[in-house]
This record gives sequence, structure tokens and C-alpha cells, in this order.
Amino acid sequence: MNKGKKLYEGKAKIVYEGPEKGTAIQHFKDDATAFNNQKKSTVEGKGVLNNRISEHILNNLNQIGIKTHLIRRLNMREQLIYLVNIIPVEFIVRNIATGSLTKRLGIADGTVLSKPLIEYSYKNDELGDPLIAREHILEFKWVKNIKSLNFINDTCLRINDFMQGMFRGVGIKLVDFKLEFGITTIDGKEQIILADEISPDTCRLWDVVSEKKLDKDRFRKDLGNIIQAYQEVARRLGIIHEESNISTVKFGKPKAVNIKKK
Ligand code: UDP
Repeated sequence: MNKGKKLYEGKAKIVYEGPEKGTAIQHFKDDATAFNNQKKSTVEGKGVLNNRISEHILNNLNQIGIKTHLIRRLNMREQLIYLVNIIPVEFIVRNIATGSLTKRLGIADGTVLSKPLIEYSYKNDELGDPLIAREHILEFKWVKNIKSLNFINDTCLRINDFMQGMFRGVGIKLVDFKLEFGITTIDGKEQIILADEISPDTCRLWDVVSEKKLDKDRFRKDLGNIIQAYQEVARRLGIIHEESNISTVKFGKPKAVNIKKK
């Protein structure tokens, strides 16, 4: 499929104009960044795995009636999506306290929360994605009214319920994750739909038994075996098989991870 002009390039993805009005092509890169761009690397094969894992999760969400931007995967690195206006808010859903929550409030790492906690950050790299309240979102009209914000909150909780069950079934704890939503017009009607990606880049995933990290914290904390961890997630979800050649590093063969420092 022919790509149109580049519309946007982010840290891990590029978005191109799609073949028809209202569509776009989302391309997954191998680039990894953390700590607001201070740490940068290339992790060979990451884009291919995130493309497949995100496709799997968003397809499942579409099937349970949660509207997402995914139309279909095109190839190893690209997806055809609906073009949306991204709401400049990151919706963070937490089941277990870790990461910035523990640092900010001094909560013990690994504390199981009594119910899912939703936090909001303003998507702004220059400001370091600051934590915001619902009132900021409404005051600055990042979401147009309380009804829409409540709809997004409810959708976050539905997605959390679905994903917690899906990951539990394959021996993985869904610790926390980030969601982004966008506004688009489908069949003449303005709709809020799930956008961006859901992958080990945007979730924290711990093995149920060993608590081994199977997500981007392996990169953030220099734990090594990043690709092996992402492959483990894909294999457990049934997306790839033992012998699959989905990325340059074969699953199960503990080769050195190919990280090229920029
Ligand atoms: N997250 C993300 N993108 C961001 C910030 C957070 O995907 O820009 C995800 C992150 O991978 C984790 C969850 O959101 O699964 C909560 O992240 P946290 O606020 O603890 O961030 P960090 O500790 O990385 O600052």
C-alpha cells in the first residue's frame, strides 16, 4: 500500500497519510526512549513485535465493542488506522503501585491497589508530561465535557478488565499501562476512539510467579534481554510460536540483544 506524506514522527512511531481520506498508516520503529528522551537506543525487532502485540490487543478490544483506530495490520511494521485528533492527555491505569507513583507518593513498590487507579498526564514533552487533575482537562477543554471524560474513564476501566483477564490467563500481571484517545468522524458522527498502541512499551507486565519484568522497564532499568521479554509476551498471547522468525533474534535462543547506542 502506498504511503502518503509523513504527518508526524514520534519517539517510537511514524504516522503517514493513508490511502483514503480519514485514514493513516502507523509505522512502528525500533527506537526506544525513556525519561523524557534522555535515554535513547535502537532495539532491533521491537517495532515488529509491538506492531503484532498491539494489533492483537486492539483487535480483541474491537471485538468486545470498544472502538479503536485500528483498521488492519498491513505488514510487519505497519497498520492502517483511522486518522484521529489525539486528545493531549495520557490516561494511566494502575493496578499495582510502581514507577512514578511510588516515587511521587512514597508508596511501597508492588502495593496492590484496592481498585484500579486512573491518573492523567498532559501530553507535552517540553513540560515533561505533568500529572494533571480532571479539572484541568475540562478547564482547558482537552476533552469537551464531563460526559466525554466519563466515557473515556469507563472505557479505560473496561479495557483494564479485559486486559487483566487476558494477561492473567497467560501468567502475566498487568501492573499498569497508558492509553491515548482520539476524536474522529465515523459515518458522519464525531466519536472518541482508542488510538496509539498497547504494547510492552506502554504497559508494565510482570510474570505472575517470578515477577520478572516483561516490558519496557528492561530498557529503562538496563535489565537486558528486552527483545526476549517482548517475544515472551507475544508467544504467551499465541501471536508467535517457538520457531517463528518474527524478529531478528529467535525466541528461546538467548543471544545478546542488539542495542545500538545513538
Ligand atoms: N507510560 C507510557 N508513556 C508515557 C508514560 C507512561 O507508556 O509517556 C506507561 C508506562 O510504561 C507504565 C505506565 O504508563 O506502564 C505508568 O507509567 P509511570 O507513570 O509509572 O511512568 P514512569 O515510571 O515511566 O515515569
